[in-house]
Amino acid sequence: MPNHPLAKLFRPEVLAMSAYHVADASNYIKLDAMENPYTWPEDIQQQWLESLKTCSINRYPDPEAQTLASALRTSNGIPESSTILLGNGSDEIIQILMTALPQDSCVLAPEPGFVMYKQVAQSLGLHYRGVPLLADSFDLDLPAMRAAIEELQPALIFLAYPNNPTGNLFDAQAIKTIIETSPGLVVVDEAYAPFTDESFIAQLGQYANLLVMRTVSKLGLAGLRLGFLAGKPELLEQLNKIRLPYNINCLTQATATFALSHGEFLLQQTQEIRRQRTVVLDALQALGNVKAYPSAANFILFKPLNIGADRVFASLKQQGVLIKNLSPQGGLLENCLRVTIGTPEENRAFLLALQKALNP
Ligand SMILES: *Cc1c(COP(=O)(O)O)cnc(C)c1O
Repeated sequence: MPNHPLAKLFRPEVLAMSAYHVADASNYIKLDAMENPYTWPEDIQQQWLESLKTCSINRYPDPEAQTLASALRTSNGIPESSTILLGNGSDEIIQILMTALPQDSCVLAPEPGFVMYKQVAQSLGLHYRGVPLLADSFDLDLPAMRAAIEELQPALIFLAYPNNPTGNLFDAQAIKTIIETSPGLVVVDEAYAPFTDESFIAQLGQYANLLVMRTVSKLGLAGLRLGFLAGKPELLEQLNKIRLPYNINCLTQATATFALSHGEFLLQQTQEIRRQRTVVLDALQALGNVKAYPSAANFILFKPLNIGADRVFASLKQQGVLIKNLSPQGGLLENCLRVTIGTPEENRAFLLALQKALNP
């Protein structure tokens, strides 16, 4: 970018980036962003609003968010030997982690994967390497991962478990091998924990270089922006120095603490989403002209077989249903679409619109 008019002001990797684009979803059935489709029961909402009165909005929030941190520890079963670090969404934690790495470090992640790993690495001028998943199963290509680890000695590896956008859980033994053979940190990103019974939280005590990251976004609190990282105190102590002091605002602290102490309704909602995931997957597989991949998350990746994904996406949108078109990312995502599981009504509307889109 030497000819860029702002070349003297900004680093070339920043000039080369494009901003994270979010589609305007107003007036659509919104099944594009892995959100929980349900609102709160009326009585709970009233209690919540009441509880917000205790927030001292004129004061800075608790910089350590101690009440919330302890509620998160309990509700997520974090072992005594681990500490946690809170972030303004797990996106911020990704940024904190990468900001702490030595210069010229390499960040590694399987691909297709969560786009933020690459986006943040590039914005900070770090080396980023994506290692393709196996084409048929979207599972880890362990020999390829091991070769890349050997070659690049990555300071940081991200493994989303389940993976976004493919929805599957990687082989747990392969993940353990990667943790054991990696010279740097390995983050198991459990953003979709509410939709699976599998987790690496129980392994935290076993590996010095393992960190587990979670978020409340997919659980149903995406508007709050709250994620956390769990791991060895020695590691988190260093990362905590980089965290900006008041990164979790008082409304988020109060609301998340409230929600966790009334967690029953969120659990009911995520259980319903898990049931609907089976309904939608069965329906997609019964169509015959799409390939739909089993998912341990709150979304399903699928591929129309006889028609372009772009056309299907556009037709769905025209019928008022917004999903995610992954086809532009190419590679293993060629002709792939991703739908978030919504309410039963939303899912029916999606399936109906999809049938029309597939048979124009
Ligand atoms: C959605 C998502 C996140 C981001 O979560 P926030 O807490 O909302 O920033 C992180 N990792 C994966 C794999 C995700 O899909």
